[in-house]
Formats: sequence, C-alpha cells, structure tokens
Amino acid sequence: MALKPRILLVEDESGIADTLQYVLSTDGFAPVWCSTAEEAIRQFQTEPPALAVLDVGLPDMNGFELFRRLQALPGGNQVPMLFLTARSDEIDRVVGLELGADDYIAKPFSPRELVARVRTILRRSARPVVPAAAPAPVATPASAAPVFALDEERHQIRFYGRALELSRYEYGVLRLLVQKPGRVFTRDELLLQVWGGDNDSFDRTVDAHIKTLRAKLKTVAPTLEPIRTLRGTGYALNEELPATPA
Ligand code: CA
Repeated sequence: MALKPRILLVEDESGIADTLQYVLSTDGFAPVWCSTAEEAIRQFQTEPPALAVLDVGLPDMNGFELFRRLQALPGGNQVPMLFLTARSDEIDRVVGLELGADDYIAKPFSPRELVARVRTILRRSARPVVPAAAPAPVATPASAAPVFALDEERHQIRFYGRALELSRYEYGVLRLLVQKPGRVFTRDELLLQVWGGDNDSFDRTVDAHIKTLRAKLKTVAPTLEPIRTLRGTGYALNEELPATPA
C-alpha cells in the first residue's frame, strides 16, 4: 500500500481540527493532530511530516515562534509549512514572507481550499513526498527535457540541457530556487541557507549573485527571465518557462 503523506496539523480549536482531519484523510493524507505547540514539536521530532499546517494563535506559543522552532529541528527546513491565521496583521507578516513559510490561509476558510493548497505546496516542493507523483520537471510537458536539471552529486545544474558553470554560491542559490519553483525566498533566507548567515554578508551579496546568475542563464536563453524578483521581498523561480528556450 502506498504511504500516505503525513500532515502535521497544529490547531487548538477541536472543531476546526476535526473538519480538517476529516477532509485530509478522505483526500489521501495522514493527518496528525496536535492541539499545542509543545506536542507539535514532539511529533515533529519523532518523524518530520511531509507538510505542517500551523495555527498562529496557539495556547502555549504563537505559530511564528513554533515555525522557527520546527525549522531549527533536524530536517525542519525541508518541510513546507502553511499558516492558518485569523488576523490581518498576522497575514501581513506572513505575506511579507519574513518567515519563509510556504503559504498561509486566512480564517474562515473552506476545508476544501486548505486541501487544495496542501496539494499545490506538496507538488511545488521538489521532494517526492506524494508517492503517486514522480518528481516532475519544472514547468514542462512530460515528454520534453526538463528546463532545469539538478545534479546534487556533481553540484551541477543544467538549464535546457546545458550545464551551467556556477560558483559555489551561485550554485547554492539556484539549487534552492530550482528545488521549489514558485516559492519566494527572502534575501535573509538565502543568506542563511547558502552563506550560513553567521558572516558579514549582506543583502547586496545575494543581489550580486542573482545578477551574475541571470547573466549566465541569459547565455542559454537570452529572452527568458527564469528568476523573478519580488520587490522588497526576495526571489523565486519562474514556474512558467516554456519547454524550449526559443
Ligand atoms: Ca487558535
């Protein structure tokens, strides 16, 4: 039997949690419900889920703090996380993606909407967490060569079949973007994940590397913009690249 993706559901309102557990299980997921942040951390440590849904208003810790704690656990930064939020100031914070969460849903929401969002995020994340879906090439028909092909063992990335000559940091940045097409990475996140964060790098370090990366991508596809800039926020891989660079 195929393994169902585990979804960690952290929500203190049992009414909402019951409904979500029901729709998630009927949709082929294995929800694990926790009503407190403490319990969620314990569950996460036992086995990181395929995705975590975090309510912002929890009794023992707010969802943002929980997000940071989970991210710091082994494997934590590989797990997509989705916030449930009821207040518009919270939404602003998530939308700004200061936190690097994958998405948010504003309460009240329809359970179907949440399940659809979960599916989209899991599809978008490059990890083959949904057993039925093969690790799909980025935005290409199944028959075409992938737009980006990541070879982690060789530290190499191919773009429309051409191997790019990348510096260590250019590789690090592009690797993150390619692994999660469409996902917005803030400069802080890129600094932390690619440069390690604890040095004297600045936002402009990221911008400078994006610039040289773009120049290298242009040599393969002069008319395309594979890396999107989200002003004031960060960068994302364009999900709408054509199958050929023409
Ligand atoms: Ca709550």
